[in-house]
Amino acid sequence: MLSQSPLTVMLVAGFGLAFVLGTLAHRFRISPIVAYVMAGVVVGPFTPGLVADQRLAEQLADVGVILLMFGVGLHFTLKDLNAVRAVAIPGAIIQMFLATLLGGAVAIAAGWGNGAALIYGLALSVGSTVVVTRSLQNRHLMDTARGHVIVGWLVVQDIVTVAALVLLPAAIGREQSGMGLTDALVFALGKVAIFIATMLLVGKRAIPWILHYVAHTGSRELFRLAVLSVALGVAFAAADLFGVSIALGAFFAGMVLSESQLSQRAAEETLPLRDAFAVLFFMSVGMLFDPAMILSNPGTLAMTVAVVMLGNGGAAYVLSRSLGHGHADALSIGVGLAQVGEFSFVLAALGVGLGVLDEIARNIILGASIISIFLNPFIFTAVESMRPRLEPPTPGELPVIPKTVYKLTDAADHAILVGYGRVGRLLGENLKQDGWKLVVIENAEDVVENLRAEGIEVIVGNAAEDRVLKAANLPGARLLAVAIPDGFEAGQIVHQARAANAVLPIIARAHFDAEVEHLRSHGANVIVMGEREIAKAMLEHARSTEHARAMS
Ligand code: AMP
Repeated sequence: MLSQSPLTVMLVAGFGLAFVLGTLAHRFRISPIVAYVMAGVVVGPFTPGLVADQRLAEQLADVGVILLMFGVGLHFTLKDLNAVRAVAIPGAIIQMFLATLLGGAVAIAAGWGNGAALIYGLALSVGSTVVVTRSLQNRHLMDTARGHVIVGWLVVQDIVTVAALVLLPAAIGREQSGMGLTDALVFALGKVAIFIATMLLVGKRAIPWILHYVAHTGSRELFRLAVLSVALGVAFAAADLFGVSIALGAFFAGMVLSESQLSQRAAEETLPLRDAFAVLFFMSVGMLFDPAMILSNPGTLAMTVAVVMLGNGGAAYVLSRSLGHGHADALSIGVGLAQVGEFSFVLAALGVGLGVLDEIARNIILGASIISIFLNPFIFTAVESMRPRLEPPTPGELPVIPKTVYKLTDAADHAILVGYGRVGRLLGENLKQDGWKLVVIENAEDVVENLRAEGIEVIVGNAAEDRVLKAANLPGARLLAVAIPDGFEAGQIVHQARAANAVLPIIARAHFDAEVEHLRSHGANVIVMGEREIAKAMLEHARSTEHARAMS
């Protein structure tokens, strides 16, 4: 019927529809992800009309996964990963265990065997990195504390999945690998470890070197090619040589670059391609959707969706709460992880290949994935918009899980500084020089260690949590400076501080006009909007350069 190649048809129809539906979604303030999945349903084989090539869509989607994860890695340093390990490692492992049990129970209830139950359960326990990263990027949450926890959590899930993919054939015994279970596990994790070590020892030097070299040629085209080759090449090598998933491979390629100054430029170079291919990923998910399937097994599907959304989300919420996160952060983490995607498809395919999982089970996993991906952005938006109201200004409204007891500081007439990163450090050092007594609130472990080494008093925790902020003695303070990047979290802090001290001078940091308004409405006296100040300083420099030229 169509004279063009399947690839051309796929790209033209796919991008075109995604564009039209994406624009509609934007108009009605719905997440674009939903629109892209719907575009996939429309060009998929189960709805009438045009049918695009499904295999092709899946292959293109792989490229989307690589570029997205490369972009995530670029925002992530080893330090960030280290900072969240105390929550991400136990959190992800326990959550996966619980979700596998729940999913396994659904499979047993549906009358499938033990092998099927194991794979079914595992498939429901791993979140989609692509869905989460897209949600985080859309909402500028990638660089927030909760964004870091979510990404760290997914990295752990990813490593466990890689191990499972290797172990399952050995455990189920259909594939004659000739290896025992323990050997297979050691072998799989050994390969992951060798990959990571290679990236840290060789990649960390070689990749920035290659990019620096190419950057010096001055050719944008060559630089773009270099970035793409690194992202795709490392991901491919990770999967082919080390048995690591392409997503994890690309993530590490990005992460080794994030330590170098070139990373920002590298990120920008991949942006347009990354967005285009990510669209194809969501379309390929939509193309798998068979509406008839929903009708054939409604009970099992409903229970599976419940495991994916309530099981994963609930476990992630409770775990991150008990591992020290505030109510609102834990909710974001829970909602972020309450969906499944690409890894579940891979696990389901393995189950079918091993002959333990039937097509019905695979279709239900797909259905649950699509439903959870479809609903996720709505819930994420709802939770994020509720954030300012979630942490109440008065204690006792929410269940407070007993953990660290925060001791009230002895300091009085002091400055409270929230956040000791790029902004807070510069501010803090100068305030100290001016003779201020300083109490810092900071939640990143490594920063806290440095502060302690420098002899600066620090309260460890999320300042948006009532009891953390209270420990800084708000009524006795003479100044509060909120130097964290998330304006809405800052709004919560300002709100609570204002309630505790009506006359305290509060200076806050913002990056968007909407945040300035938000902070002002919560009681901040002065709001410094970073981007505006940068523009002012740049303009001043431009003028003084001109002035100097005119004088000479
Ligand atoms: P930067 O964006 O480089 O100025 O870094 C911001 C700093 O603030 C980082 O060190 C974060 O760990 C810290 N931070 C961000 N949010 C909070 C929060 N809610 N409570 C305490 N510290 C925070």
